[in-house]
Amino acid sequence: MARRSPRSRRNDTAKTRLPGKRRPQSTPRSGRVKPSARRALKPAGARHAPQGARPRAARPAGPGAAPAAARVRRPRAVRYRRSDSERVAAVLDQLDRLYPHAQTALTFQSPLQLLIATILSAQCTDARVNQVTPGLFARYPDARTLAVAKREDLEEMIRSTGFFRNKAKSIQTCCRDLVERHGGEVPRTMEELTALPGVGRKTANVVLGNAFGIPGLVVDTHVGRVSKRLSLTDQDDPVKVEHALMAIVPRERWTVFSHWLILHGRRVCVARKPRCSICPLAPHCPRVGVTSAA
Ligand code: SF4
Repeated sequence: MARRSPRSRRNDTAKTRLPGKRRPQSTPRSGRVKPSARRALKPAGARHAPQGARPRAARPAGPGAAPAAARVRRPRAVRYRRSDSERVAAVLDQLDRLYPHAQTALTFQSPLQLLIATILSAQCTDARVNQVTPGLFARYPDARTLAVAKREDLEEMIRSTGFFRNKAKSIQTCCRDLVERHGGEVPRTMEELTALPGVGRKTANVVLGNAFGIPGLVVDTHVGRVSKRLSLTDQDDPVKVEHALMAIVPRERWTVFSHWLILHGRRVCVARKPRCSICPLAPHCPRVGVTSAA
């Protein structure tokens, strides 16, 4: 009988392995261990220490042992710098000089017209809204006529502003509420305005600030972006941005401050490549989040 090598004898053993029975693990050659196996070898809860970390002191254990020292928080690499009042004042003065006649670009004759125009301005330019509203208000001069207007006719009149079905629905439900709860008049408080269907804080602040002369700080995409780059806030949520700005901008300037930032965001501090090289606010601006500028 021919002599068999140890390897061929091992192969015979593998063939006769019973189904469902685990194959024995071979020892990895050249001392290499798979990462998964390395993890399995670690005791539960063990972690790599961060690079450069100091070794931990051994903790006393058992009853009566002194409590462990409080964990020291490592400082964040980039900390949010709070706006100082002098810098904010300089920014406000500069904006005032830049845009002395800032006001809303929407044309209106009454609070209701401004409310409807603001609803129409969502995802649409003010210029386009101004083309539509004269004909709209000539045909439907008040909340009652708008509330009972034939939906298809209303949609046709506002079609060019985009999202015309949703906007027509919002205008009609809002006007019905105005008729039923406010006698067809636009209320003058944030609470009452935001209780109207389709009216959020932004629209309410536009109406309060521009139709009633009650200070209102409007936070749209431009105001949010520019105030963050200027480090006037580190918030993203529009309501939080509004409250952060209200805390540092004098109340009597809330309305005009929104107009300033909207104009600056459209003309200079544009979304993709802000024109920092020609920006008069540059000496006061830390340019938070700006990665490429013109
Ligand atoms: S300096 Fe640049 S980032 Fe700052 S406000 Fe002006 S354009 Fe915007």
